[in-house]
Amino acid sequence: MTLHQNLIAGEWVGSDGVENINPSNTNDVIGVYARAGAEDAKRAIAAAKAAFPAWSRSGILERHAILKKTADEILARKDELGRLLAREEGKTLPEAIGETIRAGQIFDFFAGEALRLAGEVLPSVRPNIGVEITREAVGVVGIITPWNFPIAIPAWKIAPALCYGNTVVFKPAELVPGCAHAIVDILHRAGLPKGVLNLVMGKGSVVGQAMLGSPDLAAITFTGSTGTGKRVAAASIEHNRKFQLEMGGKNPMVVLDDADLTVAVEAAANSGFFSTGQRCTASSRLIVTEGIHDKFVAALTEKLKTLVVDDALKAGTHIGPVVDQSQLSTDTDYIGIGRQEGAKLAFGGETISRDTPGFYLQPTLFTEATNQMRISREEIFGPVAAVIRVKDYDEALSVANDTPFGLSAGIATTSLKHATHFKRNSEAGMVMVNLPTAGVDFHVPFGGRKASSFGSREQGRYAAEFFTVVKTAYTLA
Ligand code: ADP
Repeated sequence: MTLHQNLIAGEWVGSDGVENINPSNTNDVIGVYARAGAEDAKRAIAAAKAAFPAWSRSGILERHAILKKTADEILARKDELGRLLAREEGKTLPEAIGETIRAGQIFDFFAGEALRLAGEVLPSVRPNIGVEITREAVGVVGIITPWNFPIAIPAWKIAPALCYGNTVVFKPAELVPGCAHAIVDILHRAGLPKGVLNLVMGKGSVVGQAMLGSPDLAAITFTGSTGTGKRVAAASIEHNRKFQLEMGGKNPMVVLDDADLTVAVEAAANSGFFSTGQRCTASSRLIVTEGIHDKFVAALTEKLKTLVVDDALKAGTHIGPVVDQSQLSTDTDYIGIGRQEGAKLAFGGETISRDTPGFYLQPTLFTEATNQMRISREEIFGPVAAVIRVKDYDEALSVANDTPFGLSAGIATTSLKHATHFKRNSEAGMVMVNLPTAGVDFHVPFGGRKASSFGSREQGRYAAEFFTVVKTAYTLA
């Protein structure tokens, strides 16, 4: 099998590699991918530092052209890249192709943004002086990504970083080097100068840690667990470095008595179980008012019975496998915890066998849960959700906000009054009315509050906030 190497200073390098295994079929080896060490990370950072002066002053047309070419190639190869994504991460093929299209759209968006860089010109409060406010590149940006969106998250960090003139050291998650390698290969062939984008596949504790310790990284954008996010924050403060964190969620989906039952069930099934529940915007807290509770639970249970759990590549699969054995053990541990805590198992709860050896788990629904149970407070990151019964809208809102996290929050209601109140009073970065908590656009801000996020928003025009620094220049006329 060919070895997929790291890209450092414009050269593909690395000798020994590790196998990338398909979670739908552990006999299927997708490829062999090089493992970088701490020294490679240092060389990559040095290369990005050397490339920064020229790239940060490069013409906007050059940046536009490279990003546009990348977008076009990703979109042209959406089926092939989507298949690779489904094979290495385990989300279903339609979900994976959808994510790939989104990555292409993100590059397309930032190709356009490269041509729309703008500043402000203001008069000074003093006579005969002009003031210019401009945005400049930050420097070398470290990008550390998780496994659950193997192509979209790298895209929404790499595209704005390059668009605004930064150079990049990119460390993808160990479980999904395939999409990371593919996207870097496309950008490299699209004409990026040497050292502008470097790929260092490897362990978080080695490569990631080496990045955190480098004084030459001007910024780090991170998506992953709360624990690692805290390390990124502590190391970044030490180095006086800009940082942006996207971490966990425990997103509420409120269902009110006046909800359209079909809309509510579709939103809850999508939020809780699609992409195997492995989205930081997934909902695992279904907060349901008394009048609709029993009807909702019955209808959602019926819906779960129809969802096919199987190989991510098979036509007709609704839910692919869990990403690996470790995550599967976490999920089943939480199912055990939910039972011990006294929640009632209404559906699922068991691992299942399919034609191929993989990490298959039934979508699992608890009822009679309270918001104080661990299954309601801690992020599980699997196809496991719990119904919490509440009296009325006021209690629903209070339970929805009673969480350490604040990424996304949903409500199913036909009441304009409650929808409007919820939009205003939900303590989440993103609010969804009659829609799943997951599933966001690529051209508008993404991010949360409380323990979910730190720093400025990602995506859309708001990305400029993180990937640029503002300069205020005064000139005597
Ligand atoms: P997840 O539970 O999603 O795997 P992690 O926070 O462990 O969350 O991983 C997210 C990313 O952070 C991955 O690319 C991982 O390799 C990286 N990472 C893990 N530990 C560290 C660390 N100590 N320093 C830097 N990066 C790390």
